[in-house]
Amino acid sequence: MAVIGIMSALHEELAAVLADMPDEQRVVVAGRDFWVGQWQGYAVVAVLSRIGKVAAATTATVMLERFGVDALVFTGVAGGLGPGVSVGDVVVASGLVQHDMDASPLFPRHEVPLYGRALFEADAALSAQLAEAAQQVLQSAEWHLGPDTLAQFQLSSPKVHQGLIVSGDRFVSTNAESQALCQALPDALAVEMEGAAVAQVCWDYGVPFAAVRTISDRADDAAHADFNRFIREVASRYSRAILSQWLAKRPPV
Ligand code: SAH
Repeated sequence: MAVIGIMSALHEELAAVLADMPDEQRVVVAGRDFWVGQWQGYAVVAVLSRIGKVAAATTATVMLERFGVDALVFTGVAGGLGPGVSVGDVVVASGLVQHDMDASPLFPRHEVPLYGRALFEADAALSAQLAEAAQQVLQSAEWHLGPDTLAQFQLSSPKVHQGLIVSGDRFVSTNAESQALCQALPDALAVEMEGAAVAQVCWDYGVPFAAVRTISDRADDAAHADFNRFIREVASRYSRAILSQWLAKRPPV
């Protein structure tokens, strides 16, 4: 049976996923708790990636080497960069780039040395399934979040986007920094701190990877406001609903 790996960067999101997994067993590797169990009839391993590229790469490597997952999905939050990518929207990665990789002039900016590429593509089929699941969840956002939360965060008609996600070891929280990112990588829809590292590890192993990120902020001067409450009340509910919907509809393998 295919084993699905699920990685989240934040505690609240992982807790929401684990709440749906009956009888999961904890296996500790590299100081991390890997939760092995079942969800919607699939064998699932769920883990907290921790924050940042190195922590996420280590976690992904253990997922692949020790638990032999057949596909890896990252769920988390991100800062919106692209025009029209608003708080409460969901971005499904079509590909990922490390925005802080720069070995120029030896290699073009953003290219990962010795890989001959900056972009690590997400698995197209997996990403299409997740985008469809996200679409369905967002269509009934009020049902998932409740009208009060919707109003508090001013989430009117949240949207699903598919495109470039960029990752780096910085919480982007100034207008100047987010503008510089948009200039350097004009196609970027969202910025976070783990995805491109996990995509690179999955590329090394030839294992399909996908990333789903709820937009928690606009990576600007207001990026820290209400961050934790947003994760608790919006992002973790979306993550659980989107992944659950995806697994329930996923074609059997
Ligand atoms: N307040 C949190 C820390 C969050 S760090 C805590 O106390 O644990 C930010 C996390 O959200 C990272 O996992 C990153 O991937 C994502 N993220 C959300 N908005 C971001 C932004 N504007 N820039 C970079 N990463 C962001």
